[in-house]
Amino acid sequence: PKTAYVRTKPHLNIGTMGHVDHGKTTLTAAITKVLAGRGTGTFVPFDRIDRAPEEAARGITINIAHVEYETDTRHYAHVDMPGHADYVKNMVTGAAQLDGAILVVSALDGIMPQTAEHVLLARQVGVDHIVVALNKADAVDGEDSELIDLVELEVRDLLTEHGYGGDSAPVVRVSGLRALAGDPRWTASIDALLDAVDTYVPMPERYLDAPFLLPVENVLTITGRGTVVTGAVERGTLRLGDRVEVLGAGAETVVTGIETFGKPMEEAQAGDNVALLLRGVPRDAVRRGHVVVAPGSVAPSRRFTARVYVLSGREGGRTTPVSTGYRPQFYIRTADVVGDVDLGGIALARPGDTVAVTVELGREVPLEPGLGFAVREGGRTVAAGTVTAVL
Ligand code: GDP
Ligand code: MG
Repeated sequence: PKTAYVRTKPHLNIGTMGHVDHGKTTLTAAITKVLAGRGTGTFVPFDRIDRAPEEAARGITINIAHVEYETDTRHYAHVDMPGHADYVKNMVTGAAQLDGAILVVSALDGIMPQTAEHVLLARQVGVDHIVVALNKADAVDGEDSELIDLVELEVRDLLTEHGYGGDSAPVVRVSGLRALAGDPRWTASIDALLDAVDTYVPMPERYLDAPFLLPVENVLTITGRGTVVTGAVERGTLRLGDRVEVLGAGAETVVTGIETFGKPMEEAQAGDNVALLLRGVPRDAVRRGHVVVAPGSVAPSRRFTARVYVLSGREGGRTTPVSTGYRPQFYIRTADVVGDVDLGGIALARPGDTVAVTVELGREVPLEPGLGFAVREGGRTVAAGTVTAVL
């Protein structure tokens, strides 16, 4: 029998972000190793984070690239993604769920395009607190020490540029690689990083009394048990046996199992990463992007107005303007939907502009004012926006 999840500490969702090869996965493994040493986590090696196949996960909780651990004061779910496209798709658009982020910047390389794009998108989707891990500090010791000071300044400027208060954000010099090897100087740097996360990222307000809502991240079948959906609870509370509606699937059913990180639980709350076993729902009926809600609590829609920031070419965005009739992909929560853009009275929106638009989506999704989204085109992010009104 599995041990039930016991809620003893406040739970927060964090994640590593940053440019490819700056050491996100190594750092994630190092954090689990240091906390395993303290006895409040289980060591998850690099390979299991980077290429955790679906089949390798046990129980009904399958959240690829999620690890969990505890510090003295908190329980964390930590997300790490293999590539930049995964960040945009899996993390950044779902990052309304992220209570804080660890921005990993290699001290050897400094800010790179994906570093800047992740900060921009984190801002757009409402991640309010970023702690910086200035990684690979082991490689810039001695004569290069001025280099690391410059990188730190550069990162603080980048944060300030995006409204993060770069002067006050914690910037911790770490070495994920050396900490993973057990070098005490650098395991201490991981302790310092975790302290910074514990103190700098506040416990967010959880809307436990609001109607339940969970965007589906992943769907799988447990032989003999049924269809399972995984994701982070955006709001509300769900108890075993509660009825839910799956928006997109047109199904209403009962939840017959709830787990978090392989441990059964009686009640899922806003902020939890969970797997839900849905009675009698065929696997084909549910997809990533669907939304599990308290029955009748949400009416999905297709049209909305939004404020959209069009990324400049320097930020990895377009080099040419867009006009009415533009038809990119919209990443809203976990959904990926095509949409028609109407610029109203404006002839053109140029890279670098912030504009008010009206959007008509190809299908209905739950929308509400304040909801963040990313706009993608040919596999790259070209804009980020916030819903201002649902029509
Ligand atoms: P990711 O793409 O951001 O997840 O980066 P990885 O964790 O896969 O690391 C990329 C490369 O950087 C690997 O070769 C790591 O061994 C190396 N690396 C990661 N962290 C450190 C570090 O703290 N110091 C040094 N010297 N190398 C590191
Ligand atoms: Mg990685």
